[in-house]
Amino acid sequence: MSMCEKEEIQCPVCGTTGEFEMWKSVNTVLNPEKKEQLLSGSLFQYICPHCGKSYNIDYPMLYHQMEDQIMIYYVVQEEDIQMVEEQFRGDFGSAESELTKVLKKDMDSYLYRIVGSQRELMEKIRIFDAGKDDRIVELVKHIISDAVADKNPDLRDANLYYLEEDGEFLFVVVNSKGALGTVPIPKGMYEDMAEGVRDKLPDLRSRSEFRIDRAWASKALGME
Ligand SMILES: [Zn+2]
Repeated sequence: MSMCEKEEIQCPVCGTTGEFEMWKSVNTVLNPEKKEQLLSGSLFQYICPHCGKSYNIDYPMLYHQMEDQIMIYYVVQEEDIQMVEEQFRGDFGSAESELTKVLKKDMDSYLYRIVGSQRELMEKIRIFDAGKDDRIVELVKHIISDAVADKNPDLRDANLYYLEEDGEFLFVVVNSKGALGTVPIPKGMYEDMAEGVRDKLPDLRSRSEFRIDRAWASKALGME
């Protein structure tokens, strides 16, 4: 099931109200076009029908790539993280939703993630579509991001996001001003990292950890 709610939005520039579709749950089998829109950013974008100005609208989303048994929950409010974690772990309480139905049926074979930003959600989809392990990507990213920050101290607050372009593996460097450029991932670095940690990480689909981000990588690298 996909779930779409219609919301009225008033344009802050011209005052015109229009309708916006919030895709609170996206199922890629039922609505493959929504995955494309999500990756292009347009699923979170509202365009005023009157003046044409566009806005990014933020809302939580359960992304369900059913054909690959992947679920990624984009959580907007910190306080919702615990609720999602409990559901991913199988503690449903009385709640009965699409999520709980799937979880009861296919619990162990699913890959679950929780992300805290739209960019992170898009990045996870790109990583899994590329057949990569997001934990290895985060470890590689941590090392590269530290190297970038050492060279450019003003980039210490920047975030890196995985991207594959024309067969090249890159990280896009993003700070509060937007995307600043890209850094290539040196050839073989992902494979070497994967080899190095192979015996140390649990199965990718084990439900031990749902948030794989910089904080996770810092801990895994023993830097925290
Ligand atoms: Zn407008």
